[in-house]
Amino acid sequence: MEISYSLKHKPILPIRTAAEMLGVSVHTIRMYEREGLIIPHKSEGNQRQYSHADIERLECIRKAIKELKISINGVKMMYSLLPCWSVVECSEEDKTNCSSYGCHTEPCWAINHPNTTCENRDCRECEVYKDYTKCGEIKELIKKVSKNKL
Ligand code: SF4
Repeated sequence: MEISYSLKHKPILPIRTAAEMLGVSVHTIRMYEREGLIIPHKSEGNQRQYSHADIERLECIRKAIKELKISINGVKMMYSLLPCWSVVECSEEDKTNCSSYGCHTEPCWAINHPNTTCENRDCRECEVYKDYTKCGEIKELIKKVSKNKL
């Protein structure tokens, strides 16, 4: 059964459960967080919580690393290619001020964005972070953006 969008993004799983579902250690999930690949939700008690969308994202990361032999830096580069400026409709001024616009090494959500439209956004709630959890979806977005430019 397909779960609703809001349920899919609801952070309900503690880190231990997420690790069990993925067959990895808690340490591995924390390492992905330190590397800027994921943004966990923090509860009022400062506990990390994950949604089914986070599990989907982590599965994509695991597949890239384990099956496709892509390094952590390679996964970061993959996320850095998301055309975030198109999704959040950055102005030309935003692009000029944004350090992730020309960056090919880090996902946009792992970089600070002073003086841009992203300055005060909550990246975990942003469609760029939320809606492209599966590896194939990143390619589909790039295709869609390039098609609109033609
Ligand atoms: S709000 Fe965060 S995730 Fe969204 S485009 Fe800006 S930096 Fe990227």
